[in-house]
Amino acid sequence: MFLNEKLFYGTIENLGVSIDAGAFARLDRFAEMLVETNKSFNLTAITEPDDVTVKHFADSLSVFKFADIPENASIIDVGTGAGFPGLVLKLARPDIRMTFLDSTRKKLGFIESVLSENGLSADIVHMRAEEAARLPKYREKFDFATARAVASLPVLSEYCLPFVKTGGTFISMKSADSTEEIDIAKSAISILGGKIFQNQVFDLVENTPRRIILIKKNSQTPTKYPRPSAQISKKPLK
Ligand code: SAM
Repeated sequence: MFLNEKLFYGTIENLGVSIDAGAFARLDRFAEMLVETNKSFNLTAITEPDDVTVKHFADSLSVFKFADIPENASIIDVGTGAGFPGLVLKLARPDIRMTFLDSTRKKLGFIESVLSENGLSADIVHMRAEEAARLPKYREKFDFATARAVASLPVLSEYCLPFVKTGGTFISMKSADSTEEIDIAKSAISILGGKIFQNQVFDLVENTPRRIILIKKNSQTPTKYPRPSAQISKKPLK
């Protein structure tokens, strides 16, 4: 076993999150594969068991504390990297129809191997978010988009909100001290058809504050968004 089981359950119970009996074994296998693969290919800077348990696994599961995800809901995890939060959510709740998107092929290969080890499948998209979101196959097709540690909120909203159906939710996982970028992002979010309806700071464990922002998609995103990458980074919406 790689994860610290006691710390894991203590942390998620404090958050008010519970998982099914089989989920812990799947998550633990993912953690083992993460740290093993990380020896030859850089997937994460966090490798110490207690840190992996809290900062990757419990942190990802905190999504379930704030968002009510119905059975068979569709989620796109944008800039998923080694699978946070998307792969943790999928292993905890295999009913979720998860799409993993990242611009780095090798990280997606790792996610595929963890899924296959657990007999699960999911959509894997090797593209930049701002390109995938222009394709009819992905545009406004998801109940939820999630993202952790990908970009500042104005930029991230332009990446993520176009994927979300009207009535769906974009879940942004941020550090607690991101007040300024949230203020700046408000008008961008509105231009893209969204509105912040929850902005919550919480303690993942003692002295480890995190922030989660839930943005409701109230209307379609205008077709001119997302703009090409260079424009987004040069002139973020504000
Ligand atoms: N979400 C994961 C986590 O919290 O551990 C990974 C975070 S990592 C710092 C950022 C990831 O976002 C990288 O894997 C990178 O390839 C991806 N990324 C950044 N910009 C992207 C874009 N425009 N489209 C797709 N992936 C992107």
